[in-house]
Amino acid sequence: MSTRTSTDVLVVGGGPAGCAAAIVLAEAGHEVTVLDQRTGRETVTRGDLVVPAAVTALHELDVDVARLGHTVLGTRMWHGDRSVAVRWPTDGSSRRAATTAATAGAVIARDRLDDALRARAVAAGADVRMGAQATSPLVDRGFVRGANVMIDDATIDDGANTASTIEIGCRFLLVADGANSRFGRGLGTHRDRRWPSAVTASTIVASDRGSDAWLETHLGPLDANANPVTGHAWVHPRGDGTLNIGVTVSSSYRDVFGVNIVKLLDAFCVSIADRWRFDPTRLLVEPVRRRTPLGGSVGPTMGPTFLVAGDAAGMANPFTAHGMLAALTTGRIAAEVLDEALTFGNSTTLQRYPARLDESFARYHKVGRLSARFLGRPWLLRTALRSGIRSEAAMGAALRIATNELRTGGDRGGAERAYRLALQVARFAPSW
Ligand SMILES: Cc1cc2nc3c(=O)[nH]c(=O)nc-3n(C[C@H](O)[C@H](O)[C@H](O)COP(=O)(O)OP(=O)(O)OC[C@H]3O[C@@H](n4cnc5c(N)ncnc54)[C@H](O)[C@@H]3O)c2cc1C
Repeated sequence: MSTRTSTDVLVVGGGPAGCAAAIVLAEAGHEVTVLDQRTGRETVTRGDLVVPAAVTALHELDVDVARLGHTVLGTRMWHGDRSVAVRWPTDGSSRRAATTAATAGAVIARDRLDDALRARAVAAGADVRMGAQATSPLVDRGFVRGANVMIDDATIDDGANTASTIEIGCRFLLVADGANSRFGRGLGTHRDRRWPSAVTASTIVASDRGSDAWLETHLGPLDANANPVTGHAWVHPRGDGTLNIGVTVSSSYRDVFGVNIVKLLDAFCVSIADRWRFDPTRLLVEPVRRRTPLGGSVGPTMGPTFLVAGDAAGMANPFTAHGMLAALTTGRIAAEVLDEALTFGNSTTLQRYPARLDESFARYHKVGRLSARFLGRPWLLRTALRSGIRSEAAMGAALRIATNELRTGGDRGGAERAYRLALQVARFAPSW
């Protein structure tokens, strides 16, 4: 049986990007329906580090980070046997006002964070449907007007609703279905393969250091031949007696096809197991290889009646492959544009979305893509790692650039000077 419903905005994907958009739109008084193919009962293992700017973005959505997560003060950057401790960049003159900017990051288990965001969307008035997979768009004379939705019958506890396939109509649709973005591909989005992506694997282990207040970031983890690869490995204490451990490698690394990411993770776990006090043969979660598109590598980000946000638009940070901040930010920007289109009944407003994304991300993404290409050459990577890891100032500057916490006021330092220089170079570099 098939039923039909309709809504102002249909959001495909109830991750950080989709939920951020749903919260803002529902609070503005619009009808929003969020679809997520997950039932909500699965364990989601991803990275779970929420950098300070993303903590601020969550606060702005009224999500209680302190209740959900484990506060982390900074990271110890490692290369080989050298390490430097760097606190999170927190500066009154950075992008956000000192009164609202978070001064610490947090580690929040991804399923907890997604649950909290969806609960917040429901509280704001959105209709969030779990176990609901958007299978294909409904297109009318070239305009997307909704989606065919397959319902996982196991999630239906309302005897009146026995449908397993429904059509949901909408005035506008937001594609926020994550890195693979099958629904987005169906609407014509594609990833530019010349631009960097990240290949990542992670796992969870039990450790009595699971409540440490500092993370660890290993720059240039070593491959089977003891050569550093372009990427990093991490240890995130989750505050509950477990650690999230992972490795990410940039596709710009010259020998990327020779890297087995799961073996790299295994070797990394063995190398740190004693210090972090865990058993590397007892992984609580089987590592899975995943690809994240980076630096604005997916487009187009809009059509006449739809927008694309978060990983579906390839917006993750090209330095770190972290995408939570970009997902929350692009979800919010999409919501602001859709709010205007709905309020004034003018769909041409959607054309502002790519420009709004460019304002927030284009220059930073270009510098990030350029850096990824630069560090993809092994000898340049080795030189950068050897000289950088000796100095707390250099590592602090690197972290400030990598987390996009650059100062915009008068009090600029090495990070800002290095970034400005990179911007000058990027102006003359090809856009990929
Ligand atoms: C191993 C790993 C570690 C990472 N670590 C970090 C980290 O520490 N910090 C950080 O900031 N970022 C990290 N990232 C990146 C981060 O997870 C993503 O950038 C972020 O989740 C993007 O949010 P999103 O809402 O765009 O997509 P997602 O979080 O992927 O959400 C998309 C949602 O859409 C749903 N969906 C998909 N298709 C459909 C469909 N057809 N119909 C209905 N629903 C659908 C999915 O079930 C999912 O819930 C990591 C990524 C990986 C792979």
